[in-house]
Amino acid sequence: MAEFLTDIEIADSVEMEPIVEVAERAGLNKDFLELYGNYKAKISLEGIKELDNNDDGKLVLVTAITPTPAGEGKSTVSIGLSQGLNKIGKNSVVALREPSLGPVFGVKGGAAGGGYSQVVPMEDINLHFTGDLHAMTAANNLLSALIDNHIHQGNALRIDARQITWKRVLDMNDRALRNIVIALGGKASGFVREDHFMITVASEIMAALCLASGLEDLKGRLAKMIVAYNLDGEPVTAGDLEAQGAMAMLLKDAIKPNIVQTLEHTPALIHGGPFANIAHGCNSLIATKLGLKLADYLVTEAGFGADLGAEKFFDIKCRLGGLKPNAVVIVATIKALKMHGGVDKKNLKEENVDALEKGFANLGRHLENIKSFGLPVVVAVNRFVQDTDAEIAKLIEKCEEYGVEVSLCEGWGKGGDGVTDLAQKVVAMCEQPNDFHFLYDVEASIPEKVNAIVQKIYRGRQAVFTAAAKKQIKTLEGLGLDKMPICMAKTQFSFSDDKNAVGAPTDFDITVQTVRVSAGAGFIVCETGDIMVMPGLPKVPAANKMDVDESGKMEGLF
Ligand code: ADP
Repeated sequence: MAEFLTDIEIADSVEMEPIVEVAERAGLNKDFLELYGNYKAKISLEGIKELDNNDDGKLVLVTAITPTPAGEGKSTVSIGLSQGLNKIGKNSVVALREPSLGPVFGVKGGAAGGGYSQVVPMEDINLHFTGDLHAMTAANNLLSALIDNHIHQGNALRIDARQITWKRVLDMNDRALRNIVIALGGKASGFVREDHFMITVASEIMAALCLASGLEDLKGRLAKMIVAYNLDGEPVTAGDLEAQGAMAMLLKDAIKPNIVQTLEHTPALIHGGPFANIAHGCNSLIATKLGLKLADYLVTEAGFGADLGAEKFFDIKCRLGGLKPNAVVIVATIKALKMHGGVDKKNLKEENVDALEKGFANLGRHLENIKSFGLPVVVAVNRFVQDTDAEIAKLIEKCEEYGVEVSLCEGWGKGGDGVTDLAQKVVAMCEQPNDFHFLYDVEASIPEKVNAIVQKIYRGRQAVFTAAAKKQIKTLEGLGLDKMPICMAKTQFSFSDDKNAVGAPTDFDITVQTVRVSAGAGFIVCETGDIMVMPGLPKVPAANKMDVDESGKMEGLF
């Protein structure tokens, strides 16, 4: 029975196809490939250019209801849907984010889908893969070294050491590095100062790379990144430190998208993975655009729930990349909806149709939001073995009452065969004309843009800006850096900024604590509450259950 095998056991039981064959089937000449062994490859940027004249396929976004600790399964449904589309005779590619080592060793144990809807080789994808995250770590920390060296060597740019905003990074959950003191050891080690580490995926380099159109564009973005302020309060950029060339050099391979396969040999582009919190949380634009050139249906996902992930996908990624989505899938689970209906995590195994009905309010609000972007939407019920027939029937009934298409997805247990119904519905939706539009005009003021998100998507009363945030807005306006899309940094667990307010809360304000620009990425980050940029490990980390034997066979990656 499928449910008794772990993800890694299922992945090991399937024979992979050589990646050259998978790529060729997708329309990629093997001359475009830079092989990393037999099952992983990078695709050269010159090769991608050769596909410029291909028509674009349909763009399908997979997003979800507000996440709960019960888990939703966006990656699993994305992979399953792409496999399902191929099962019904369509040509589909899936584009996903690269996993970060932090969550792999923390709670999650892996981020390559689950069950019979996985991307492989899952061990490699979850660990070092093709080295992209390591390259970003190196580029980020090169910049840090250049900043401290510049100050040590006389500080010609008059960097205010109290206002260095650029942080060091590591691809690991390590709370001990959140706040540190550097340059101890006397004069030869530089000026002592407080510093901070973030997890690599939170680096602006990751967001910039994911929105870049090529290496030259990336270099320009790197140069624009603000790293500190000088003693007059003016921004100092990576360009001022002449850092962009060497950083881009370190990233010259990381910018090329990676191709692997699903368990059913569907081509999978896995590239980039910015934090969905302080960044936009989607895979790279280069990979998404490549997928559209290769496939009739490109399936991709956005981080967290639709209030954060989908909104940023539309208003940041689609806007900056000129993308036009054709259809949206919202993943919901019975367990998560019951939690939104007030059930405690420990009681989720018990049938509770009433709580499910109550929790539907969360799904309903996300559905209205997607429709407000002018896009057709379908609900994908990601089926878990514990779900009862009565609960499933109620959810389907509620969706039908609401007037939205719904599909029961069993991709986790059955692979593409369990997602053919959703695939058919997605194909039908993609044939419909849509009226996709952004939520706000990027030329509006920062408060106007933030209020549009707060009122129309979160359904709060208004955004309240702290005194510090108001001052920061003035500074950005003065610098002419306010006409960019907004990247909200808010808890993913609620529509509001209170993570305990599950369901569909009303009558709340959203307090914007800080406003800063990610000038290289090209968006303005508005932080609401404490946003964790360096996670910690849980009491029993997933790492404790992992092992590898003499032959290299691994276990514990879920
Ligand atoms: P997300 O993309 O929303 O973070 P994932 O697709 O990565 O979620 O899934 C999270 C975890 O839940 C994975 O370990 C996956 O194997 C598991 N999972 C997903 N769907 C199911 C399901 N239907 N039944 C059991 N486990 C599932």
